[in-house]
Amino acid sequence: TKDELDSLKERLPKWLEASKSLSTGGKVASYIPELSKAPQQALGIHIIDASGDSVSAGDCGLSFTMQSISKVFTLLLALMDNGEKAVFDKVGMEPTGDSFNSMLKLELVQPGIPFNPLINAGAIVISSLIAGSGPDEKAERTLQFFRSLSGNERLQFDLAVYQSESETADLNRSMAYFLKDNGVLEGNVHDVLDVYFRHCSVQAQCADLARMALVLAYDGTDPITGVNLVPRRYVQIAKTFMVTCGMYNASGEFAIEVGLPAKSGVSGGILTLVPGRYGIGLIGPALNPKGNSISGVHLLETLSKELDWSLF
Ligand code: GLN
Repeated sequence: TKDELDSLKERLPKWLEASKSLSTGGKVASYIPELSKAPQQALGIHIIDASGDSVSAGDCGLSFTMQSISKVFTLLLALMDNGEKAVFDKVGMEPTGDSFNSMLKLELVQPGIPFNPLINAGAIVISSLIAGSGPDEKAERTLQFFRSLSGNERLQFDLAVYQSESETADLNRSMAYFLKDNGVLEGNVHDVLDVYFRHCSVQAQCADLARMALVLAYDGTDPITGVNLVPRRYVQIAKTFMVTCGMYNASGEFAIEVGLPAKSGVSGGILTLVPGRYGIGLIGPALNPKGNSISGVHLLETLSKELDWSLF
């Protein structure tokens, strides 16, 4: 592993440049207006191992919001707060094959539970399951959990992105009201969405995502501090969802081309891991038509093929 990281230090910059050139073929997300300010050409990656050795390349200093990447960790928190049974009474375990914000299948399974916790509808239900006396406490607990996983006490909400999403989220709002009417979502819809928009707006850098991914790579224990942060069973559940649903309706293709558990967000971030070896955080704001970082996916394909990382 140490040898591999050393050889990566030399080879990574060249691979990154090759992938970066693809960013002109992608589009920065603009349906959340504030996200459209991100630099289209940027590409950065950070890879960390259990001894804390790391290699990074490209635009790693860029801060971005976690967006859908946060859904992996709110799922873990909801499982820790409620247990498996209560969570899976309200969200399913199957991929949809549809885009992340699709409403299409919400009426399909009775009583109208979302297919899985990584699509928007499912993640909104998960937000409603986070323990706390109100939206402020729920959001604060979530932020604290993200801080402990990343080892970064300075993680914060990006309030401009939060507000921008909150003002334009008609589709997510309509889903949430639909879920409430179905009896799947409990509580005040406005408050639930407030928690959801806030955890999507947590600002991070590649190194933060890499460290969070490292905890997943080591089954819930941060190998750098030795502290267990999440029960192994819940990490197993989360990683399985990452393989089957983490890259939206491109998860099958990603499993074939890269073969690692991963989760992307519309900000262009991707969190992935090599089990028992590395945590990886990446940012490339230009997206492909399915909403995944165009240059980021390409870079992970190169890494997986060159280093034989596929689990399959
Ligand atoms: N906050 C975003 C939304 O709800 C997250 C979506 C994503 O990253 N794919 O639309």
